[in-house]
Amino acid sequence: MDKVKEVLQFIGLKIMEAAQFIWKYLKIGFKKLRRWFKRYVRKLIRHTKAKDYSLLIYTIIAIIVFILFIVLLGKLFSHGKKNKEKKTTTEVTTEAITEDPAVEAHNQLVAQANTIYQNNQALLVLVNDSHPIDEGYSFEQYTLNCGEIIDARSHTDLVNMLEACNDAGNEYTIVSGYRDKTKQQQDFDDTVARIVSEEGLSEEDAAAKAALSVQKPGYSEHETGLAIDISGLGKTELNESLASDPTVAWLDNNCHLYGYIVRYPSGKTDVTGITYEPWHFRYVGVEAATFMHDNNLTLEEFYQLIGM
Ligand SMILES: [Zn+2]
Repeated sequence: MDKVKEVLQFIGLKIMEAAQFIWKYLKIGFKKLRRWFKRYVRKLIRHTKAKDYSLLIYTIIAIIVFILFIVLLGKLFSHGKKNKEKKTTTEVTTEAITEDPAVEAHNQLVAQANTIYQNNQALLVLVNDSHPIDEGYSFEQYTLNCGEIIDARSHTDLVNMLEACNDAGNEYTIVSGYRDKTKQQQDFDDTVARIVSEEGLSEEDAAAKAALSVQKPGYSEHETGLAIDISGLGKTELNESLASDPTVAWLDNNCHLYGYIVRYPSGKTDVTGITYEPWHFRYVGVEAATFMHDNNLTLEEFYQLIGM
């Protein structure tokens, strides 16, 4: 520490010496300049009194030239500064172009989706054609007045949604909630049998067609207890025409506010593998449902977004 202090003191001393030296020569310079100026003024007065105006004219010209020089210098200086500012602006613009706003927006969306996934992982369970439900999947069950069973975590939001639906002047029927594997198998078999008898297709073709609307056991969301089919009052036959039913239409437009998504929307059959089902609602929680609704994402697309 002492050494540092010594060095600092030494530097300080040297700066002082240099300043004194410069000051001394400046003073001499000023004195000389003042003397020269006084002599010049006296000479100027003498010449003017003697009616010799040449020196006066030269002096005026010199002063004008000096002023012009100063003005020019000032302009050059300020122009250089402006250019520098301009350059800075250009740099910023170029930077903004390199940082593509679309890429930026996409990255933000991915980050948001990841956060939502971390917060709601259990409610976001993916069950579809290629993702069978986990063997031994279980959840806390809640039995509704109508006898249908749902995942207890969705109960409060479901009640609030149905109340709001009623308040808007709509009446509903809950067609189907939780289905265990046996019930799902029965539903599937019933659908195949109906297609065979109604359309005269082979068992194999009928099964393929049935898979478009009824999932095979182990592959249905209804086995999670998070899916629920809701229709207009008394309308238990589920088909696409329900989209124009006021109750179903209200639910389709508002379900995200209560944590539900229209799981198989129109125009997304190639993504979900299931035809448009305006009556099938899937609980994922308000945060995830709102996000998927606002960004027009199915559950499959949500998983694609987070790279899973
Ligand atoms: Zn359903």
